[in-house]
Amino acid sequence: MKKGPDPQRLDVRSFARAAASLSETLPLSAFPRLAAEAVNPDGDTAVRWTVQGELRTDANGAEQVWLHLTAETSLPLTCQRCMSRMEQPVAVDRWFRFARDEAAAAALDEEVDEDVLAMDAPLDLLALVEDELLMALPVVPRHETCPVDVKLSAVDEGFDAASDAKPHPFAALASLRLDKPH
Ligand SMILES: [Zn+2]
Repeated sequence: MKKGPDPQRLDVRSFARAAASLSETLPLSAFPRLAAEAVNPDGDTAVRWTVQGELRTDANGAEQVWLHLTAETSLPLTCQRCMSRMEQPVAVDRWFRFARDEAAAAALDEEVDEDVLAMDAPLDLLALVEDELLMALPVVPRHETCPVDVKLSAVDEGFDAASDAKPHPFAALASLRLDKPH
């Protein structure tokens, strides 16, 4: 039975022209680089992702190929303050614009704020989902409020002062950067 487009070999232009969408829920094990970041993940950890193709027309009537990607999961990580296990929700919500090849993508990337990818080869959507989720992970995962008393030797005042001065955004907030200029 035909299942529609292969997410690991996606013809992005046809996908956008058809305004097609794809959605999957996969076990974390389908994303080995992401799974490697998790601490003893149980088999129930899932990654949900959806991609929607969109064709736009610029002022000159030329077609533009776009993809909207959303993905979410929740990874068991080690809190870097109390060193106990924590569940870190991770979410991605991004638009990508496509250029005909790497050179065109590099040129366009200089002009525009959005993320530009080349479409001269089939797109591996799963690799893209994995890349984006990895980038959305917090640099220093920490509980908002640690479940145990951490006023012990594990945290010195210098660490606290440094981390208060430059807080790391939570992964969930990363999605709010969507479409904003970098
Ligand atoms: Zn903690």
